[in-house]
Amino acid sequence: MKTLIKAARLIDGTGSAPVENPTLVVSGGKIESIVTGELPSYLAGSDVHDHPGATILPGLIDTHVHLNLPGDGTILEDAVRESEGVLVATSAYATAKALKAGITTVRDLGAKGRTAIDVRRALQLGHGDGARVVACGQAITVTGGHVWYLGGEADGVDGVRRKVREMVKLGADFIKVMASGGGTVGTQSWNPSFSQAELDALVEEAHRFGRKATAHCLCARSIEMAIDAGFDQLEHAGFIADRTGRQVYEPAVADKLAKSGIPVTGTLAVGGAVLRELRGRETLSPTDAAFLARWENAAAQNLLQFRKLREAGVTFVAGTDAGWRFTRFDDLPLEMELMQEGGMSAMDTIVAATGYAAQVIDIAHETGSLKPGLAADILVVGGDPLADFAALRDVRLVIQAGTVKVAYDANA
Ligand SMILES: [Zn+2]
Repeated sequence: MKTLIKAARLIDGTGSAPVENPTLVVSGGKIESIVTGELPSYLAGSDVHDHPGATILPGLIDTHVHLNLPGDGTILEDAVRESEGVLVATSAYATAKALKAGITTVRDLGAKGRTAIDVRRALQLGHGDGARVVACGQAITVTGGHVWYLGGEADGVDGVRRKVREMVKLGADFIKVMASGGGTVGTQSWNPSFSQAELDALVEEAHRFGRKATAHCLCARSIEMAIDAGFDQLEHAGFIADRTGRQVYEPAVADKLAKSGIPVTGTLAVGGAVLRELRGRETLSPTDAAFLARWENAAAQNLLQFRKLREAGVTFVAGTDAGWRFTRFDDLPLEMELMQEGGMSAMDTIVAATGYAAQVIDIAHETGSLKPGLAADILVVGGDPLADFAALRDVRLVIQAGTVKVAYDANA
């Protein structure tokens, strides 16, 4: 039996102009066609979801999450003290939360051991509802480097090659590398972590096995080194200059990044979520007050740098860093609002969270846009997100591979 979804408009995720008064036809778990005007007679008797005034979109893609982490303010060091069994359960719950928000695919950028890989498998087996998972296994990091607790430590050219092979053996869809320090206690976000020879070997080895490689970069030198190594993508692309966390934007590095054509995940939601949570509290501990003050500054700086990088010609996909501190698994609309605030058009931002995101993370042949033959991963929201992204939080219907997962409509 075919399923028909009717709404006021349809945005297909490719950047094409919206289709007015569409009927999206789903059959056998896949998108069959988009019909406008009178319904052809062969569609009579289909299961119909009619959403007047609403918008049909591809299911959203969050290109940067950490399923192991709860996103409730818990710091990494505490979260990863739990057993791997707890982390698997936490991760499965995270994929369910994302799916409810219309995020039908998440890409995990580093989990402990094989926990994210195992959750991906359980969902593939049909054991529970959750966003489809694309996973790197563990993020590869230097000894004592950013998120080393997850098990991804490797050093030296031979050591990093071996680690890539371990991740491929584990079933990694892609390879994630911590090219600078980060929010992990004792690491240096203002310095590159690996040598150039190690980064070159990481990328070469990932590509040998047909995996894309992405690099977490919080300082300018790490961005330059990652470009030279030939990474396929960058995460964050920060310009932290010293241990105070001060950022110093470098136009020459931005130009080099733009010329490379390497897309970046901005993760602006991290700062946005900290501000939402801590500004909303009546009282703050001295630690939280200091944390908020630091992020008031960092969030503004990150937004400004996002704007400048785009003006320089750098392209972005939407990714939240969900799980990290206060960033929730339904926070992709927050990321999209911030991207728009940083100068991106509503349509470009939607494409960055659907069709372009799928292309960058190598799943465009399966999902990401509403093209015939692709998986029927569909989100219907009330209102028009092109006019106001608040519509993205008014979830009416979520369909994943043709199966209704969330329905707030009367006739579902
Ligand atoms: Zn991350």
